[in-house]
Amino acid sequence: MEHQERFENIPKWEDMDRDMLVNIFKKLHVVDVIMGASRVCIAWFLAAHNKTIWNTINLNDLDSIVLDDNPSKPHLQDINNGEKHRYHLREILNEINKFSRAATFEFFFNANTNVVEEDLAIISNGLPNIRKLALPIQKTQNLNSFASSFSKWKNLQTLIIAKFTEDDDLNHEFKAIAENCRNLTTIKFTCTLDMELATIIKKLPNLERLSFRCTSVFIRALMSLILGLQNLKSLNISHCIFRKRCNNNGTLRMLPEDKSLMQIILDTQKLETFKLCCSDCTTCLDVWNHTRLPDYSTSDSAFSNFWDKQWKTDEFKEFEF
Ligand SMILES: [Zn+2]
Repeated sequence: MEHQERFENIPKWEDMDRDMLVNIFKKLHVVDVIMGASRVCIAWFLAAHNKTIWNTINLNDLDSIVLDDNPSKPHLQDINNGEKHRYHLREILNEINKFSRAATFEFFFNANTNVVEEDLAIISNGLPNIRKLALPIQKTQNLNSFASSFSKWKNLQTLIIAKFTEDDDLNHEFKAIAENCRNLTTIKFTCTLDMELATIIKKLPNLERLSFRCTSVFIRALMSLILGLQNLKSLNISHCIFRKRCNNNGTLRMLPEDKSLMQIILDTQKLETFKLCCSDCTTCLDVWNHTRLPDYSTSDSAFSNFWDKQWKTDEFKEFEF
């Protein structure tokens, strides 16, 4: 009898204070909230719909997610080897839409994720209020669908974008973005800056902050941006390889001490913040010792972890996540 009374006095999980539950859920990975915590009982299911849990979605941990959208490039982890249950990315994106009810302002993908047009269509339909997005893409099959997704993100202000393919550039995709997201102020590119990309970037009238950290940069394109963007305040060209075109149509690599680069430094004096590293920078050594493209045919976790770390890191805090 005494034991029974003592048992009845123990608080029940389902009676736990709702705010306390919400604070705990905020510290969990989104997959654990969607597939785990929200399925415990009705009280936890309701708590999992608190909008503040979904303001920032960070899919940085791929332990729970299977990436198999491109059959020729299998997902990085072997689904049969892990004990933890894993879910398809698209399944998770659909669930995020249901739980967040458009409350998401920031959405960050892992650098090793292949986000395709169908994935973008799901999140742009369900999460139209995104203001900050970190998006890695590979080959775009349907540019109209890609543009249609970005047409829903009228309030997008900060974009961190990468295209991890060997023989392609980001120019077509970024043109579609620039035409639809006129309020972009802050952009980080993980692709080569050439004249064509610079011409598209210059069409964004409100651009204030740019980062080309760890990329290949053509000097003429960079000068054209600095001179052409009237509202540009901050520029990060740390750990870049600088190039100029030669007469034979080839390209020449330049050192940071080169005269043309010094001219750019003079031109950048109109900027409030400017980042450029020195020629003996240890981060440069690390970055350029790694191949630029993830190798999806192997499970090289050191490689993918290195690039995911670079993806989330920047000398400007606006690009960190
Ligand atoms: Zn460096």
